[in-house]
Amino acid sequence: MERISWNQYFMAQSFLLSSRSTCTRLTVGATIVRDKRIIAGGYNGSIAGGEHCIDEGCYVIDHHCVRTIHAEMNAILQCAKFGVPTNGAEIYVTHFPCLQCCKAVIQAGIKAVYYAEDYKNHPYAIELFQKAGVHVEQVPFDQNSLDLAANEKADFVHSILKLLEENGVEGRELASLQNQAEKLFK
Ligand SMILES: [Zn+2]
Ligand SMILES: [Zn+2]
Repeated sequence: MERISWNQYFMAQSFLLSSRSTCTRLTVGATIVRDKRIIAGGYNGSIAGGEHCIDEGCYVIDHHCVRTIHAEMNAILQCAKFGVPTNGAEIYVTHFPCLQCCKAVIQAGIKAVYYAEDYKNHPYAIELFQKAGVHVEQVPFDQNSLDLAANEKADFVHSILKLLEENGVEGRELASLQNQAEKLFK
């Protein structure tokens, strides 16, 4: 079994958190890490005990859902609530942070932002991160790192493909299936 990298491990945590999101517009997860330890996590959703967008629909003003607190903000506020320092920490987010979260991340003393997917990457956020000396790096997430049975599934699919080949499935059709398997289990 191949050992998961730190980057993939923390990013996997953020994607897992994003699956708890209660806003249907975008599911985001954030994990705050210090000295290779997870110190907090958050996903975008309403305040604790509040109505959820998934039940009530989003509360949209000026094209933004105003009911939700963003994942990065929730992770930082979790640290505030429990008195955990964020100074010098790193944050792993599923999507590039919005302008508000960018400022909160900088002000919390977080020194590195790792994000999986581009999301309207605001030029001012990029500029602010640069000026604050925050390391920003894209870490594409490998979805198979969350799937503990990925290797077995890959073996299974490959054995089926082999069987198809032996049974004379048309070349172009087979190549297309092999291509799809390649994409799924790269
Ligand atoms: Zn919403
Ligand atoms: Zn945000």
